[in-house]
Amino acid sequence: MAEIVRFAPSPTGNIHIGNARTALINWLLALKTGGEFILRYDDTDQERSRDEFAQGIAKDLEWLGIKPNRIEKQSARMAAYDAVAAKLKASGRLYPCYESADELDRKRKRQRARGLPPVYDRSALDMTAEQMTEYEAEGRKPHWRFKLDQKTVSWNDGVRGAQSIECDSVSDPVLIRGDGTYLYTLPSVIDDIEMGVTMVVRGDDHVTNTAVQIQLFELLSDKVPAFAHHNLLTSSSGEGFSKRLGSMSLRSMREDGYEALSVAIFAVLIGTSEPVHPLADMAALADLFALDKVSRSASKFDLADLGHLNARILHETDYDVIADRLAGLAVTGGEAFWLAVRGNIERLPEVKDWWDIVEVGLPDDAIALSEDDADFYAKALELLPREPWDNTTWKSWTTAIKTETGRKGKGLFMPLRVALTGRSHGPELAAFLPILGYQKTSDRLS
Ligand code: GLU
Repeated sequence: MAEIVRFAPSPTGNIHIGNARTALINWLLALKTGGEFILRYDDTDQERSRDEFAQGIAKDLEWLGIKPNRIEKQSARMAAYDAVAAKLKASGRLYPCYESADELDRKRKRQRARGLPPVYDRSALDMTAEQMTEYEAEGRKPHWRFKLDQKTVSWNDGVRGAQSIECDSVSDPVLIRGDGTYLYTLPSVIDDIEMGVTMVVRGDDHVTNTAVQIQLFELLSDKVPAFAHHNLLTSSSGEGFSKRLGSMSLRSMREDGYEALSVAIFAVLIGTSEPVHPLADMAALADLFALDKVSRSASKFDLADLGHLNARILHETDYDVIADRLAGLAVTGGEAFWLAVRGNIERLPEVKDWWDIVEVGLPDDAIALSEDDADFYAKALELLPREPWDNTTWKSWTTAIKTETGRKGKGLFMPLRVALTGRSHGPELAAFLPILGYQKTSDRLS
């Protein structure tokens, strides 16, 4: 079935790897089923929502390779929400409450002290007209709660299987704040109905909201979408991600030079029954992914593991795929240079360090050459063949040095590597030497 799915972030910050997981899972389901992906900004909280964050989210999704079929924002749809809210108020399902946050807090404390669950006691339903007038005269503004049907709500969750929630243990949720703005709960249901959403896929922090929202769907439509709640990602120490956790934001991953494909593969496959491994593209990820492979418990996300996957992906990346980005980094060594160094980088920007070692000179932190090797270097220079060079030059040159000096293995190769690159590890020198060329090689041996 062609699924109509949506990703519905609040534009109140930069999105992080956990949000990317939600977006990507929805995108893969749309891809797999030939469906539709809606990007919907849940921006009813006008104080905290910002246009710059909405633009940042669009950019992050584009970077990941997600192309929304439709973009909507809740702030533009207030009239639709007001119409439904008016109906719910008229039928008594949405009722006004005047308790302040402090009063509610005290109530909950009293309930807890008596060993009761801190569920809203619906005292606002018993409010008399006089009390209401009094509150209004005090300048209080009502918030509005949805009167839940105190029944069991059940659904077959795409990830978690059979779910049921007893609504008598859930507080009647506030749908409209005291300042008249909507929480996302009701607008989300209205949008899902009007936009024909067939499947709601989101993090498992929304499971309880689902019981509330299913009741709203049942009230407002003759169809209830399917639901799937994926597990959440946590930091390696087990904390949840917030929009303020800078290094986990997609923006910083992009700026730090991670590949979008690595981030996408990692965000999707971690916490599933599939091992995290390189894949050719998003289509391959879509083929592999299925909701029933997603685990039910939280998964730890470690940036170091993303680095390893990123390295594995770069090591297999062909030159023509990366050529434009190399040009963007002012790395002009062509295919030979890319093939020589791609196995030695974890993130693409590191390629520039190697290119600078070729073009500009040894790095500032280059390993110093040992005085003891002075004769060895003199001999190596003497034996250095003239160009033209190719990938066999290294072998014939070092064979000649070996014969003359009697050195072999590490004692032969390491001083040459250090002299030519300033580093003790790096690319295959057989490939690197022709890129460096005769002039620079001889200068570095002198
Ligand atoms: N704005 C909500 C969130 O970011 C959307 C939840 C949903 O997908 O329904 O958590």
